[in-house]
Amino acid sequence: MTHSIVVIPGDGIGPEVTLATKRILAAAGAPVEWIECQAGLAALAQGRDVLPQETIDEIERYGVALKGPCTTPVGEGFISVNVQLRRRLTLYAAVRPVRNLAGVPTRFDNVDLIIVRENTEGLYSGVENQVTDDVVMSMKVATQTACMRIAHWAFRFATRRRRKRITVFHKANIMKMTDGLFLRSARRVHAHDYPNIDYQELIIDAGCMKLVQDPSQFDVLLLENLYGDVVSDLCAGLVGGLGVVPGANYGERGAVFEAVHGSAPDIAGKGVANPLALLMSAVMMLNHLADERDDPVCNQVAERIKGAYNQALEEGRSTRDLGGPLGTEEFATAVIERLRG
Ligand code: NAD
Repeated sequence: MTHSIVVIPGDGIGPEVTLATKRILAAAGAPVEWIECQAGLAALAQGRDVLPQETIDEIERYGVALKGPCTTPVGEGFISVNVQLRRRLTLYAAVRPVRNLAGVPTRFDNVDLIIVRENTEGLYSGVENQVTDDVVMSMKVATQTACMRIAHWAFRFATRRRRKRITVFHKANIMKMTDGLFLRSARRVHAHDYPNIDYQELIIDAGCMKLVQDPSQFDVLLLENLYGDVVSDLCAGLVGGLGVVPGANYGERGAVFEAVHGSAPDIAGKGVANPLALLMSAVMMLNHLADERDDPVCNQVAERIKGAYNQALEEGRSTRDLGGPLGTEEFATAVIERLRG
């Protein structure tokens, strides 16, 4: 069985980390063929939309995509590629596993938490108005449909993964309607359907303090869109930075796997970016294919890749962001040399 996967190299460091990741998957024998599509500045440079319809169509057709980061010009008229992609494909659940990695020393051990982020609304709904010459406004949107949908998804996911507890970070003391709805939805789903999972609520400021005091006390975090975005980067910092946190966006019409980090224009083209976060996202993708398409080969390849990058990291063969000596391609080669079986 060969799986056709849409690949979007993206901008900045995107093409570099995508190339390294594809090279490792090929060496590991991943049963995938790539359908390359464009988005972001790369698409604009070809005179196309920032997110061409053809890219959306191909993801819908094949159901799975691996995506590099796309640059969104700040303060200009473009709606972010990521926001558009999530909205147009209704990729409503973003998942970011945050774990310590062998060979990557950090302040805390035993970090093993999963962030589940609502991906379609909140302050990312893009509804902004000029009210008067002096006043601009951004609308935070919450719908019962989306709040219930993400709550169901998170509890089902936690149950399948044998997780023990879900913690919701919120600010319902201030945003009583929007965050209040998010909170009530999570409570309802927990009370009706998932008594097997412990449920906890924390006001987000206190939650962030607890996270940086001892992240090992958390299991699954359920967050609305903006909080999920910010807390994802915070948690990346707890385990070694943005170079080591993968991500997946799941929806009804497809799944898009991408690192948490952006296009890192400060290091783009220098060959120093860490491809690990995208590689780990590709491992999540292989596990998804194994589950959804009942293909055990994908599981085996995912395990081989994990074993190889863990071994490389343990031996200090890492990129500079992790204190190692290697560039992007050298790290990919180090992983390939450690593939077994
Ligand atoms: P960023 O994640 O690109 O970079 C933040 C810092 O982390 C930089 O110092 C960068 O060098 C470092 N970094 C990031 N990834 C790294 C890697 N793989 N290896 C080593 N170091 C790495 O965040 P930013 O600078 O705020 O954003 C840059 C652009 O990326 C913006 O246009 C933003 O909109 C976009 N962005 C895209 C996505 C996405 O496509 N999913 C996500 C976040 C940001």
